[in-house]
Amino acid sequence: MKHFLDLSVSEFKEWLIRHGQPCFRAGQVGHWVCRSPGVPFEQMSDIPKELRTLLSRDFRIWSMETVAHRTSADGTEKLLLKTADDEHVECVLLRDDKGNRTACISTQVGCAMGCVFCASGLDGLVRNLTAGEIFEELLQLRRLLGPDERLSHIVVMGMGEPLANLPRLLQALNWATRKDGLNISARRVTISTVGASAGIRRLADHGAAYHLAVSLHAPNDELRSRIVPTNRKVGLGAILEAADYYFEKTGRRVTYEYVLLAEVNDRPEHAASLAELLRGRNALVNLIPFNPIQGLPYRTPRRQDVRDFASTLESAGVQVTIRHRKGDTIDAACGQLRRVREQAVVLSDFQQEA
Ligand code: SAH
Repeated sequence: MKHFLDLSVSEFKEWLIRHGQPCFRAGQVGHWVCRSPGVPFEQMSDIPKELRTLLSRDFRIWSMETVAHRTSADGTEKLLLKTADDEHVECVLLRDDKGNRTACISTQVGCAMGCVFCASGLDGLVRNLTAGEIFEELLQLRRLLGPDERLSHIVVMGMGEPLANLPRLLQALNWATRKDGLNISARRVTISTVGASAGIRRLADHGAAYHLAVSLHAPNDELRSRIVPTNRKVGLGAILEAADYYFEKTGRRVTYEYVLLAEVNDRPEHAASLAELLRGRNALVNLIPFNPIQGLPYRTPRRQDVRDFASTLESAGVQVTIRHRKGDTIDAACGQLRRVREQAVVLSDFQQEA
């Protein structure tokens, strides 16, 4: 049986036409699926009985099962979802005190990029998620919200390289941003990429004003190729050019993420070269202190080093934010929870969902 959300809106309209149904039902059914997660087709009260029966015959809305659910004191919740073929993906709900509710979603099972400090790629790529699975992460997270909460933002910063699974991601985001879908503005969606330059250009040409975040992590090719192995094939020059193109096409300022690894890329000379690289660009640098991962040799930078790194950039006129860690106690960094699972560690401290 097909996942309902694997269909694009136009494919669903074609299905409706083939079954002698009017196209406007697409919006109605989409609205039910997106806004009332958990309601089966049979209970969609304003949809004719005959159509409800056809929908339940041909489609399913849920294909994944929550196998672990962790909550941390700062309000962060993390789900480990099991796919129909017994793979595992992670997604996270982040809460802040301004009322923002952000879904952090994965696009792949595992990752092929192999960034040396990241848990997601340690065992390579297993497969792309389908559009339906990507969208279902949003629905599963939405179910965790209280009656006064609303999903306000999406960050595509979970497992996987989003631009390596772009068509499916765009299809899922189309449902997320449509009025009859989740109605989240494209401006509140951030796609984080390792820096696939062709993919960045494709995204720029797509036309939607998503926010782009590029994972830079080093100010020169020699160091970046050591931390982010795919850099050997692309190079910083091509990435920055593609990011500039993105800014030209969309008018949206690009964010550069920079994971600070103690002694590796957090030295004053790295800050100075980064400032030089980004000088004159309309850019924001997001400094991310490394979130430790068991078995990896990297360390979190000292607080003072993070502050000094930020002030070097600021004094060169580069805007900076420092990402505060959320969900520390629940292995919220990408790929960590799945790895725990794959390593068959006893999940006794998990709050199993009923
Ligand atoms: N493939 C995409 C999405 C990855 S996750 C990308 O590379 O951007 C989003 C961000 O989290 C990336 O910048 C990634 O480098 C960073 N990240 C991964 N593991 C981390 C860790 N252990 N500590 C801090 N940041 C990490």
